[in-house]
Amino acid sequence: MPFTLSPEKIAAARALAAAVSPGQRVCLTTHVNPDGDGLGSEAGLVRLLRDRGVDAVVTNPTPTPSRFSFLFDDIPGVDRTGEAVKELRKADLIIVLDISDLGRLGMLGETVRDRGVPVACIDHHVSSGVLPPGPRYLDAAAAATGELIFEVSLANGWPLTIEAACGLYVAILTDTGGFRFSNTRPRTLRVAAELLEAGVDPEQIYLEVYARAPEGRPRLFAEALQTLVVEPDLGLAWVTVPPGAIERLGVSSDDLDGVVEFPRSIEGIRMALLFREVSQGRVKVSLRSVGNVDVAAFAKAFGGGGHTKAAGLALAGSLAEVQATILTAARDYLGSDGAR
Ligand code: 5GP
Ligand code: MN
Repeated sequence: MPFTLSPEKIAAARALAAAVSPGQRVCLTTHVNPDGDGLGSEAGLVRLLRDRGVDAVVTNPTPTPSRFSFLFDDIPGVDRTGEAVKELRKADLIIVLDISDLGRLGMLGETVRDRGVPVACIDHHVSSGVLPPGPRYLDAAAAATGELIFEVSLANGWPLTIEAACGLYVAILTDTGGFRFSNTRPRTLRVAAELLEAGVDPEQIYLEVYARAPEGRPRLFAEALQTLVVEPDLGLAWVTVPPGAIERLGVSSDDLDGVVEFPRSIEGIRMALLFREVSQGRVKVSLRSVGNVDVAAFAKAFGGGGHTKAAGLALAGSLAEVQATILTAARDYLGSDGAR
């Protein structure tokens, strides 16, 4: 089957392209603690725009984890995250990637809200949020925002360079868990095939993203996995990052990527959780599910969100308090009809 785009998608992609013109200053941004999809999408789109003469830069609310910095290596100075507010004040257009909500833009939320320029958005999250008006390219069926940027480039006839393709490949690779999760559709693999045809070397990307970890990463996994608790009757399992472990081991919260897959991997588990204190009195919870348990709906009840099978939330309180609240709710949820 050839790769096709609906007339609605083509129109949306062209409307987005029409909002950018050569010489304009465009800021790309994504959610706090940017992941491979947010950063890979930025790396792809920033090149597609620069190739059109647009002065595009990356301005995120929190720093680029070291394992993704290679994405911007060949365009020094493009990652302006350190001066994000200053850059946003100069922007003619802001493009928000991999999230549709001001609330997830951290300390940049207010600037984006009050800036008074169009705010475009390309995103694949189910939970919509609030953003200032601007062109939208949204599809919750897409595995990754990177897949949607590929579509935007295709609809507009923008040539895909190997550098742009590498960014989009990182986006899709990471958000599908290496093409393993249920969001991996035939279409996802068709896009990935196009990216390989554009020159992406999958082993090189694998090595950059997954084989350059600091020693502290496996040590952090070891400490977190020691805390595993399993409640087989409900299909609930969770792990907790020991307070202070990230700092003590000299790693970053990005190094926790994948740890929640271990409780999720246990036979019979339907909901897996990872708890970690992100600051004094604030706890982040990562949620994953197996089967038809909708963790996005669960997270939404606590002000979080995400995807049906991968979601997150953050609550005020001590680690023990947040665990008590969330575990009680999770037990209720798994015992209720909504999670069957
Ligand atoms: P992770 O648990 O890997 O940080 O995130 C899994 C998914 O949930 C991602 O799609 C992410 O965007 C979403 N997510 C994580 N934390 C939050 C949160 O605090 N609020 C919302 N709305 N979504 C979140
Ligand atoms: Mn994503």
